[in-house]
Amino acid sequence: MSDTAVWEGIVSAIRAQLRPESFERWFGECTLKSDSPEELIIAVPNVFYRNWILEHYGAFIQDTLRELAGPQTKLIIETAGAPDPPSLGRSPSRRRRQRRAPRTASPRSSSNNGSRLNPKYTFANFVEGSCNRFARAASLGASQDPGRAYNPLFIYGGVGLGKTHLMQAIGHYMVSQLNGVRIHYVSSESFTNHLIKSLQTRQMERFRRSYRDTNALLIDDIQFLSGKEQTQEEFFHTFNALFDLHRQIVISSDRPPTELAKMEKRLVSRFQSGLVVDLQVPDLETRVAILMKKAASSRIDLPDAVGFFIAEKIHSNIRILEGALLQVASYATLMKRPPTVSLAQHVLKETLARHGAHTITIDAIQKKVAERYDIRVMDMKSNRRPRTIAFPRQVAMYLCRELTNLSLQEIGDAFGGRDHSTIIHGRKVIQQKLASDPDLKPIVSRLREELTRA
Ligand code: ADP
Ligand code: MG
Repeated sequence: MSDTAVWEGIVSAIRAQLRPESFERWFGECTLKSDSPEELIIAVPNVFYRNWILEHYGAFIQDTLRELAGPQTKLIIETAGAPDPPSLGRSPSRRRRQRRAPRTASPRSSSNNGSRLNPKYTFANFVEGSCNRFARAASLGASQDPGRAYNPLFIYGGVGLGKTHLMQAIGHYMVSQLNGVRIHYVSSESFTNHLIKSLQTRQMERFRRSYRDTNALLIDDIQFLSGKEQTQEEFFHTFNALFDLHRQIVISSDRPPTELAKMEKRLVSRFQSGLVVDLQVPDLETRVAILMKKAASSRIDLPDAVGFFIAEKIHSNIRILEGALLQVASYATLMKRPPTVSLAQHVLKETLARHGAHTITIDAIQKKVAERYDIRVMDMKSNRRPRTIAFPRQVAMYLCRELTNLSLQEIGDAFGGRDHSTIIHGRKVIQQKLASDPDLKPIVSRLREELTRA
């Protein structure tokens, strides 16, 4: 058997065991390097991948290798960019481009009221996961065909889930693609303050021009316009003026348009007229990937175990996740001690008490979903088949797979001793439905949020 075939055999065996997202994350960037019969050499992006793969799949790969290629074949995992993790290992031209973007987007060139894009909030620094894949793709689409593909683009999601990052990434991307492009990023609070000041100083003409004379208006945290009628009125006109000129409008919010309280109907309907996307709480792997990326770009030495420890404990806010990493890293540096799990435990005691994840149980999921669909908790375990019961049961199965680390067997047991294939099927049904039924998404997001927050 050729080594390519051996490697393909191993890969397909692993693929069968992992969730598609996990497979993509860890093995998507693995490449076969050598075809010698003595050794199978594969390359991965960095040390972290190598350690993770060795820890979780090393023995399995070695066994399969022995079976398929014979006992003499050794497994060697090389790191492509070592010692630089991926975000540092990019080509110099790419690095230059990234560094140039924010300068072009400086206040003078990109806006008239001092809005500034954070140089770190680029697509390159945005880690993709199932929680944000759609929002990211839509944002990229909007940057590539501004004002036309998705206009307006409305991004919503909980605190610290990447709304500001993503909307600024659109700005950076546009700046890097087009000479002289003007981006105006503003929080809705600044928009309001600016409006008030302009009214007082009778500079409305200037105010209007500053927002309309731009290729893209990125307005952050629109929920702060709730109840501010005059600001809404002004924003409505700004919106229409830009929209008619095919300028890109990106809006972020902590909730979907329909749930914005005290917001004029005509504005809500404008918000809904383009594309509405949401950012969800990231799963464990995405959180680990974000930490690794952050560690790499800040040149922090982060052992896997510590990364996993932090990612496992903090799940509903990426800003706090990053803060925890920095806390651990600075403590380790200052105290001249290696960053270990026990050091992290010590340093993060308070953060974890405040933001640390409680363990989400199957009971809690079943209870919450039963409440939402107004069925009895015992029906989660029963054999009753009507759709009004079977569907919520599948939603609960889906959430158990997403929010707990429990095995299919354990989940099956908790659903009245169901087979693991029933759980897999249940999850798949909901995944497909989430992609096709726009009504289901907010329901599942809300359930997930309440469960992770509780
Ligand atoms: P929000 O505006 O939704 O409150 P931010 O955009 O400010 O959240 O994100 C909070 C922090 O988390 C930022 O430092 C941001 O860079 C980081 N972050 C969020 N999502 C991601 C992601 N997918 N990949 C990398 N970093 C992320
Ligand atoms: Mg924000």
